[in-house]
Amino acid sequence: MNPSAKYRFETLAVHAGHSVDAATGAVVAPIHLSTTFEREADGSYPHGYLYSRNHNPNRNGLEAALAALEGGTSSAAFGSGLAAVTAVFQGLQPGDHVVAPLDIYHGTANVLKHLFAKWQVSASFVQMTDVDAVRRAMQPNTRMVWIETPSNPLLQCVDIAAMAEIAHQGGARAVADNTFASPALQNPLALGCDLVLHSTTKYLGGRSDVLGGAVVTRSDDEAFAAIRTAQLFGGAVPSPFDCWLVMRSLPTLPYRMQAHCANARKVANFLHAHPKVSAVHYPGLEENPFHALAKRQMRDFGGMLSFETRAGKEAAMTLAAHVQVFTRATSLGGVESLIEHRASIEGPESKTPQGLLRVSVGLEHADDLIDDLAQALDRCA
Ligand SMILES: *Cc1c(COP(=O)(O)O)cnc(C)c1O
Repeated sequence: MNPSAKYRFETLAVHAGHSVDAATGAVVAPIHLSTTFEREADGSYPHGYLYSRNHNPNRNGLEAALAALEGGTSSAAFGSGLAAVTAVFQGLQPGDHVVAPLDIYHGTANVLKHLFAKWQVSASFVQMTDVDAVRRAMQPNTRMVWIETPSNPLLQCVDIAAMAEIAHQGGARAVADNTFASPALQNPLALGCDLVLHSTTKYLGGRSDVLGGAVVTRSDDEAFAAIRTAQLFGGAVPSPFDCWLVMRSLPTLPYRMQAHCANARKVANFLHAHPKVSAVHYPGLEENPFHALAKRQMRDFGGMLSFETRAGKEAAMTLAAHVQVFTRATSLGGVESLIEHRASIEGPESKTPQGLLRVSVGLEHADDLIDDLAQALDRCA
């Protein structure tokens, strides 16, 4: 690739961070398992590698690729999405405050409530679809506004540009967890955010076979240096094989996302018309309250949706018990369609409606997914 050329997303997905191996000419990058790298007689490191926690060729490639796909300058990769989340908050100081959405990913809420609260990093959880509520939640010590859109499990959308503006007016940084959309559909840095976070476990890995996380930064500033330090000193780095697996999936990301979105749209339309379904949460539906906003800040509406059965929990459980193409499991972004009863995975504190099922629409034929839901709905009250 010509480093000064401006390539389109599909081309970056294939080439960014990928290169022909200089030592062998291998077109596909080898997996560098070596934990340590040889020093020259003069004590220098001629290849720039010292020890694999600090740097590893596979991780460097993945970080370059993710930075390119999100339009950032650098990125830091971690062993899971939550390790990346933790590193972002480790960049804060005791006394700092975070504004976060009420329907934030429950694992991120756990990190704030159970790991950082005791280090005097406080958080306010607000209804982020209400811009004034976010303004009111800002405090003089607010250093970060955490954005997640579309949200989980109600697929509510938040105005990223408006949130970034409120954050910056208050002297805070705007961070977007872009896991649900993926960089193929939404680029928060271009909408004013300072950092983007991904659980690469989901659409970026795309195969439900690798855990990972990453933070992409708009600029190589002091705040990002603090995240790098958390990566280096904290050591929650992904293995070379994990990096390689994510890299293997990136070239197909744009095409997988097209198919996820097309299938999800069809499944959402089917559910929307079904008499036993009382609500479908999918921003791609024209009557969805977030449709116009999603259309403005996303290129398509994503592969995630949720819906509620008219007869409540019993019917939702019966439906989930009878699917044959969908798999009953948590997580998202893989080739296989998943369905889950969200309230029971979130535990007793969950505010999710008991009749709600969350669906990660996979890459099967849409008609087989629809037929499967239809036969399972036939068995419900
Ligand atoms: C899964 C997920 C995470 C956490 O990522 P892990 O890789 O499971 O640690 C964070 N945010 C969102 C939106 C997620 O879906």
